[in-house]
Amino acid sequence: MSSIANFESAQRLVTQPGSLLQVGPVEVAGQSLLGYVNAPGSMRDLWQLATGHGDAEYMVYLDERLSYSDAAQQVAGFANWLRSQGIGEGDRVAIAMRNYPEWMLAHWAINALGAVVVGLNAWWVADEMAYALDDSQPKILVADERRLAIFSEICERFDTLQLVSVRADNVSLPATSWTDAIAVGGELPAAEIDPDSEACIFYTSGTTGRPKGAQLTHRGCVANVMNVAAMGTIYATHRALEAGEALDAPIAAPPPTALVATPLFHVTANNCIMQAGTVAGGRFVLMYKWDPVEAMKLIEREKVTTMSAVPMMSREILTHPERGDYDLSSLSAMGGGGAAMQPDLVGKVAAETERAMPAQGYGMTEVCGIISYIAGAIFLARPSSVGPMVPTLEGRCVDDAGRPIPAGEVGEVCVRGTPVIKGYLNRPEATQETIVEGWLHTGDIGYFDEDGFLYLVDRAKDMILRGGENIYGAEVENAIFDHPAVLECVAFAVPDDRLGEEVGAAVHLKDGALLDAPGLREHLASRVAAFKIPRYLWFLAEPLPRNANGKFLKRELREVLDPGSAD
Ligand code: AMP
Repeated sequence: MSSIANFESAQRLVTQPGSLLQVGPVEVAGQSLLGYVNAPGSMRDLWQLATGHGDAEYMVYLDERLSYSDAAQQVAGFANWLRSQGIGEGDRVAIAMRNYPEWMLAHWAINALGAVVVGLNAWWVADEMAYALDDSQPKILVADERRLAIFSEICERFDTLQLVSVRADNVSLPATSWTDAIAVGGELPAAEIDPDSEACIFYTSGTTGRPKGAQLTHRGCVANVMNVAAMGTIYATHRALEAGEALDAPIAAPPPTALVATPLFHVTANNCIMQAGTVAGGRFVLMYKWDPVEAMKLIEREKVTTMSAVPMMSREILTHPERGDYDLSSLSAMGGGGAAMQPDLVGKVAAETERAMPAQGYGMTEVCGIISYIAGAIFLARPSSVGPMVPTLEGRCVDDAGRPIPAGEVGEVCVRGTPVIKGYLNRPEATQETIVEGWLHTGDIGYFDEDGFLYLVDRAKDMILRGGENIYGAEVENAIFDHPAVLECVAFAVPDDRLGEEVGAAVHLKDGALLDAPGLREHLASRVAAFKIPRYLWFLAEPLPRNANGKFLKRELREVLDPGSAD
């Protein structure tokens, strides 16, 4: 049998009727969508399944180790404390911290109560944090020392917001410490949760310059966890079929020991790595900050099996001069998502590690995680594909008029199914523009081949993929326009070997105005997070080129401007 026929058999085996991963139509808000018909109803149900892993190790952070039982105690304690503060179904609780174990614990406790996690980006400056707090109106903010210091700059505007401090010795504001909160103890309190209610709000970059709060539902997050499990099982089953085994049941992938190298306030680490792996009984090795040598030390010490990060992180390990000093033989999967994994890297993972195979997810906040996934031998054979769709998303490409186009033709990728978000918080127009008759318009340009494998070729949206963080050009432009000396500006992606892309901006000043690169960067530092500040700035004497409608010609500019001549 051909490899692709075996792959299709694996897909059928995994999602067959009667199995936990059976796929079928599910009613959501009057629409019939593809879903898991036997899915647990909420994130609370998933957490309760996970607590069954008992004394197995759950998280490792520096020299701290936490078992599932330890975690269950802290989650129940924190949930009881939240309840004692009046938090219940639908109330929002924000989290602002780096990758500490408490991120995951707080998140499970909030979701187990039917309350909503608002995940704040830890790199944000005070103004960006204030925007998201205003928009989402949480009742409680759980934050580490650095994020509390940032919050203290804007605290007068949020005088009813209660604070919980995590790993913070110096706190200038009244806050309950995490340790005191969890000391309440007890069993997980009861909650009634509507599967289609909000579980989480994650902010994604916005075309209008301000981030949009994507409303991820319990059903959507559960579907993503099951999609991750299904894809792992499909590839493991395919491997067995390729080896000639006769199977009448699928082969589950073993629980991972995963390196968590990207931030927990995005769906990659939070939903795809941690939520999915938690249900499977995985172990998680948390990194506070990316560092390739530290990562190699941890892979060796903890016998990490999966490294799923942004592609540049895998590349930094594979090309590191000290790589030979570390035993990385425990790795069975290496790769990630969030940005394209270059075809050469796909081959390098297999060729230059003892037994790791390449793996990549294509995903988006707006589907609670992954859209498609590709791994192993199938990936080596199609190194420029992002894989087939996950079981509960239909996919198609459409032309400029929104009409579906046949396989092989390039158009905008649209997806439909239970993982798609409910909408954008307080943005009905943005929701209507992005989700049309259930179809989420991704803003990514690509095509499907005859076997249903997706290939991405471009982006229609104005997005810059810099390492693990995405930036909308408009957000940077708005902050630059805020400077009184600026008359015109455009921001765009500049290719970068390390980060994939860097931010570049071309600026034309008002007549007689004076501004240089350090001056503009200083202006930006108080307005946007450091990762959004352009690495490349061009001050152009001439007005920026425009088309007949007066729109700046971004593409043309980025092609003629040489990074070597930037400030
Ligand atoms: P976010 O919602 O911030 O996770 O960003 C999602 C966007 O990141 C997608 O719409 C794509 O433009 C990009 N992206 C994510 N994964 C991949 C991938 N594997 N290859 C190429 N682009 C990707």
